[in-house]
Amino acid sequence: MNSIQKNLKSLYFVSSVFLLLILVLVFLILHKYAYNYEKSKVIQATTIELQKNVTQFSIDFFETNQQKDSITEDHFKEQFRVMASKIDQNISKPLGVENAIIVIKNLNNNKIEFSNGSNEITDKYSAPISCAFISPVSGKLTHYICYYDIPNFKYLILGHLQLAMSFTITLIILLIVVFVFIIRRWISGVKESKLKDDFFQNITHELKTPIATTSIATDIFKKFNYELPSEKIKTYINIIVDENRKMKQIVDDLLTISVVENGKSKMINGEVNIHDLLNKTLKNFQFVVEERGGKLISELNATQSVVVGDSSYINMIFTNLIDNAIKYSKDAPIINITTSSNQYGISIGVKDNGIGIPSDALNKIFHKTYRIKNNHDVKGFGLGLYFVKQLVDVHHGEINVKSTLNNGTEFIVFLPFGKK
Ligand code: ADP
Repeated sequence: MNSIQKNLKSLYFVSSVFLLLILVLVFLILHKYAYNYEKSKVIQATTIELQKNVTQFSIDFFETNQQKDSITEDHFKEQFRVMASKIDQNISKPLGVENAIIVIKNLNNNKIEFSNGSNEITDKYSAPISCAFISPVSGKLTHYICYYDIPNFKYLILGHLQLAMSFTITLIILLIVVFVFIIRRWISGVKESKLKDDFFQNITHELKTPIATTSIATDIFKKFNYELPSEKIKTYINIIVDENRKMKQIVDDLLTISVVENGKSKMINGEVNIHDLLNKTLKNFQFVVEERGGKLISELNATQSVVVGDSSYINMIFTNLIDNAIKYSKDAPIINITTSSNQYGISIGVKDNGIGIPSDALNKIFHKTYRIKNNHDVKGFGLGLYFVKQLVDVHHGEINVKSTLNNGTEFIVFLPFGKK
């Protein structure tokens, strides 16, 4: 990983953590405000309702007791119980509260007149309401306080906020996803342009060497007026052929880049006879392979060899695979090209006896610019197989690889026949 990639990764990490912290903070603040707002709303509603009930009760209480000659303690208690059950009915039910605690206390003598729960009054009670009504016993104004408590008040409020909270959490998750997506796109854009810069720098450098070498070789011919021992002529011609092949590869890579970048839009579909195409391509490689003392063996056994596709794209697939088979063979390359077909399509195998690919690299070799650096000193850009994969993909095909280190590699391309 180079320093730019490292910097981008840490920038990505820091900004993600930062955003996450900000979002969590915003969520907590919003949640606190929403909680307090909802709490005061419930208390206010409860208070109003309680006040209404108590006032009504006070009137009823007074009117009922006016007609009574003597009021017993039990009768008195019964009236408070009726009031409590009315409060429960009018407040607890609409709020969805179960087991609300209602306590009525006489403030004149500090006596608890009614309680449906504990007789202890704590300041945690959520809706204490003070109210006054005339005592039926003394006929004087007596102050009572009515306490109303919702057990698990916090959970009740949280329950009310559930919908808003789920909405906020979804929004936050959505924001994070969008952020990650944008940052990833941005980072991959930066990486891409860095790759392009590196690529063109390398290409310029790589082109300079063969141009210089071939011009030295041709200068020597001129210098000696084309009269050189046949051994030397052979050596210089080999150098020129070799360097020319390198330049061709670079130009091919450049062409393929534009093809792959333009994708399917530039594809010219037609009927392509794979066997004819292979025979032509193999002829072009015959010379190079024989020069290295190797062999190109073809066993084209497919019974159906016509597919629908772009012949120049398919040609690039074969050229890249055969070129690699030659490049990555240390000794005389023995390259087997085979075909077979089934009802769906044709399989083309390109097998060499070269250096092989370590098993842990097999799933990476199709990645853009990936190269195995420690088992060969062949120069390249790591683009060939990436292009091959892209070109196979635009034909809805498949590519697989089998390899044994130091023994050889086989690439198998499957191309569906397609619609004719
Ligand atoms: P390049 O040849 O420019 O490095 P490729 O994408 O064609 O780019 O190949 C990626 C890597 O896969 C090469 O660096 C090489 O290590 C490995 N490779 C590809 N083809 C073969 C092969 N036939 N035998 C051994 N290794 C191969």
